[in-house]
This record gives sequence, structure tokens and C-alpha cells, in this order.
Amino acid sequence: MQPQGEFDLIARYFKRPAPSGMLGIGDDCALLSPAQGCDLAVSTDMLVEGRHFFADGDPRRLGHKALAVNLSDLAAMGARPLACTLALSLPRLDNAWLQAFADGFHALSRDAQCPLVGGDTTGGARQVVLCITVMGEVRRHQALRRDAARQGDDLWVSGVLGAADIALRLMQGSLPPDPDRLALCRSALETPTPRLRLGRYLAGVAHAAIDISDGLLQDLGHVLDASQCAADLWLDTLPAHAALAGLDDTVRRDAVLAGGDVYELCFTAHPRRREQITTLSRQLKLPITRVGAIRRGTGLRVLDALGREIPVPRRGFDHFSISQT
Ligand code: ADP
Ligand code: MG
Repeated sequence: MQPQGEFDLIARYFKRPAPSGMLGIGDDCALLSPAQGCDLAVSTDMLVEGRHFFADGDPRRLGHKALAVNLSDLAAMGARPLACTLALSLPRLDNAWLQAFADGFHALSRDAQCPLVGGDTTGGARQVVLCITVMGEVRRHQALRRDAARQGDDLWVSGVLGAADIALRLMQGSLPPDPDRLALCRSALETPTPRLRLGRYLAGVAHAAIDISDGLLQDLGHVLDASQCAADLWLDTLPAHAALAGLDDTVRRDAVLAGGDVYELCFTAHPRRREQITTLSRQLKLPITRVGAIRRGTGLRVLDALGREIPVPRRGFDHFSISQT
């Protein structure tokens, strides 16, 4: 049966019981109670049909991804999720689409313990627009800020790089069709895993962190700018996804260095933390690789195995750049 208007739609697809101690959907505001001694971490990300996702894409995976990219920002700050809100602009009322979208969204919301506590719903726009806000808590002074990298820090990357970029290129047709390869890398693009546990462990251990949403070079560049430091990145150490095997060298290098939509964490930490980080990697069953070092000065150098600097053509994704990647 069609929902009878906006309120019925919210009740059917989005309203879920709020955890105790929290006021969820249904009032003018939600009410949250962050723990004492914690800062509130807040982040918003918007996803626009045709721009961030394909109009005919799978709605369940979209529901997952829309929340995942937001949770990734909490992870990159070292924060624990508290709750999220969802603003939704829908050009049409499509129940099957909404049901699948909501299922994907709620499944991750449950897993990540990030209940949906409010939002807004509107019709009439030409495209689907999703705007999600996540709120989390992080112990005061322990947040992993972009401006906290220090000279002498090690540079680390979690997981493996490049798969989402290759999946996108295969789907857009800028790489020749290769169904086996696409099968290997598609989930990296469509259902990324936010590194929440890693982020929380790193709070108070690492210095600066960022999630790789726009490409390693670009995102690391933000850390360096904010921290007023330079960095060396060792190309040979960068962990590439298995789906990149057999691709042309330039395509691989480009995917690893500049490919976006990765949602792994890039972070810096004092060298005395090496053992602790290696142990953490084993516990989480997640590769965490040392890929470079923070130096004095400005700029980012990419070095080959012999220490020679490699020119890097493109930096990553910028919505307003003239030569779009
Ligand atoms: P208001 O008039 O106060 O803006 P609304 O009528 O827009 O409230 O929404 C009613 C309730 O439903 C509010 O608690 C709001 O947070 C929630 N809500 C609306 N849209 C969504 C959505 N897409 N997802 C989750 N909660 C929503
Ligand atoms: Mg409203």
C-alpha cells in the first residue's frame, strides 16, 4: 500500500525505536546525551544522484554507502557514533526503492550503533538528494585532528587502496570491460566499511588522521597544509587492492595515489607507537601499513624504492576544479 503522505512515509521507512536515554524521531528535535568529558563530533555529507551515485544503482547499497561515508568521518576523528539524521529529497514516491534504501541504511546504522534520530523529507526535486549528519563523541583532547601531524611522525594507511577508482572506471567505461575484475572491486565502491573501531583505538595514540575520500595525495595534502609539515610517501610500500593486479602501471599508480572513495584512514603517529599499531592491525585483522614519514617544510614528495622523486600528475577529486578527475 502507498504511504499516506510524508508522515506515514517517515513512520514506515525511517522511524525506529530510539535507544534508552535518547529521544528519537517524532518531536521537534532529537535529544542526545554525550558522555561527560567528551567532545561532540559532528559531520555532514551530501550525496546527489548523477553526481555521487548512479540513478539506476542498487538502492540497498546506496542506503549503506550514504551512511558509511558519513561514519567514515567520525572514524577519522576517532569518535564513537552517537546518532545520525537523514534529510531526503525525492523526485518520486517509489516504495520498492525506499524500502531497499531504508534496509541498507538501517542495517549499517544497527551495526555501527548509530541510530537514526531525525531528518527531513521533501518531494518535487529533479534528483534524489541525500544529506546525512552524524554525531559522535570523542574524549576531550583525543580527537584525531588534521592539524596534529608532527615532524618525525610515521605515516600509516589502513586497508588497501585503489579498488573503488577501478570499479568506477570500469562502470563508466573509461577502462575496457572486465567482469572478473569488476566483481573483485565493486564492493569497495558500493559498500565501503567505515573504520570506526580503528579510529576509536587510534584516538589518544595517533596524532593526525583523515579518511581517504578524495584520494590519498589530496587528503594527505590537507593534513600537511593544516599541520604545516611536509611528507615523503614511499610508492613501493603503498598497499594496492588485489583487483589492481595486471593493470597498466600508470593506471595502478593513479588509482592508488589519487583514487577517491576509499574510506580507509591515513594517519600519523610517533615512531614509538609502531609496535602498538602492528598489534592493533593483527587484532582488527586489518592491514595497517607504514607508507612514509612527516618532515619539516612544505609539500609532498612521492619516492620510488631508490629514493628518487616521482612526478605525480593528478591529485584527486575536486568538485569545482576545471579539469575534473
Ligand atoms: P518539523 O516540522 O519539526 O521539521 P517534520 O514534520 O519534518 O518535523 O518531521 C517529523 C519528524 O520526523 C521529526 O522528528 C523529524 O526529525 C523526523 N523525520 C523527517 N524526515 C525524516 C527522515 N527522512 N528520516 C528520519 N527522520 C525524519
Ligand atoms: Mg521538517
